[in-house]
Amino acid sequence: MSQHPYRTFRTTVARIAPLSPSFTRITLTGDDLAHFGTDGLDQRIKLIIPFADGTVTDVGQFDQTQGMGEWYRRWRELPDEQRNPIRTYTIRDPRPAEREIDVDFALHGSEGPASAWAMSARVGDPMFVVGPNSRSQQPAGGIEWRPGDATSVLIAGDETAMPAICSIVESLPPHVTGEVCIEVPTDADALPLQGPDGVRVTWLGRGAAAHGVRLTAAVHAWGRQRSRALVPAASAASGDWVAEPSADEILWEVPDAVAGGEYAWLAGEAGTITALRRHLVRDLGIDRRSIAFMGYWRQGRAEAS
Ligand SMILES: Cc1cc2nc3c(=O)[nH]c(=O)nc-3n(C[C@H](O)[C@H](O)[C@H](O)COP(=O)(O)OP(=O)(O)OC[C@H]3O[C@@H](n4cnc5c(N)ncnc54)[C@H](O)[C@@H]3O)c2cc1C
Repeated sequence: MSQHPYRTFRTTVARIAPLSPSFTRITLTGDDLAHFGTDGLDQRIKLIIPFADGTVTDVGQFDQTQGMGEWYRRWRELPDEQRNPIRTYTIRDPRPAEREIDVDFALHGSEGPASAWAMSARVGDPMFVVGPNSRSQQPAGGIEWRPGDATSVLIAGDETAMPAICSIVESLPPHVTGEVCIEVPTDADALPLQGPDGVRVTWLGRGAAAHGVRLTAAVHAWGRQRSRALVPAASAASGDWVAEPSADEILWEVPDAVAGGEYAWLAGEAGTITALRRHLVRDLGIDRRSIAFMGYWRQGRAEAS
């Protein structure tokens, strides 16, 4: 029987490396990871967070003949106390040959089960990872970075997008130019990151500012610079009307195929990303088919999965 493009990998914590005051890298290991299939970039995964005793309720997630769609429905029907939290993360570095993957956690306290797990993790602790299966014939999806032939890029996000942004920037070919803005909790959270010479990376320590303020200011500054660089006719905003997500929805709008020289990728807190979409599309008139907008989380709300 053909294998599903996604499967659940049994792993344990191999190493824990604090990267900065707000980031910790957790290296997960397990024989299953030999079949972890991805090109990296912003590849998303799901973490099924074990209960305190290290167990997960079996809803069929380890049966490789079942897709996530099948077992997820059973998981949703479980009573709260039997339903392990599931959260979305990014593969910072997949190393299937070494049977390891790195996941970088933004630590935001112990209110959320994923952050709490990362803050108290010990070597040997179990973790269950839903990710791409290299033995499947079908594509797994989960990579939204699709710049096409674009040679000029804007990449912007907050600490939750930091792992994706770092992987993307490290993969950029040398001829690409652009701007990368990453808002992080403190100045001390800036990490070494090397892209092509023509790509400027700016880490924005939030400090006492509200979440998203510094990122918004940086993207607006990029927009002003872009408008100045364009001939007046081309820079006139088209004022495209954009439908906004309701309070229950999280913005997720990614173009399939980008045509043109310019591409933008924005991810982070949903309210900030929604406002930036409004600015880029409506105020600046940038073609929304050249921008990926992704609400990675929403302030005041636990992830809905
Ligand atoms: C595609 C994708 C990739 C992602 N990749 C990563 C990644 O690699 N690393 C990473 O750290 N995060 C990543 N995230 C974000 C992560 O899924 C959320 O932050 C998630 O809510 C964390 O789960 P939790 O159990 O810690 O908190 P939850 O139980 O979901 O939330 C509890 C509370 O914490 C708040 N909260 C959640 N995240 C934050 C935060 N970062 N800062 C402050 N408050 C917060 C919520 O608003 C809520 O009030 C990604 C999200 C998506 C959609």
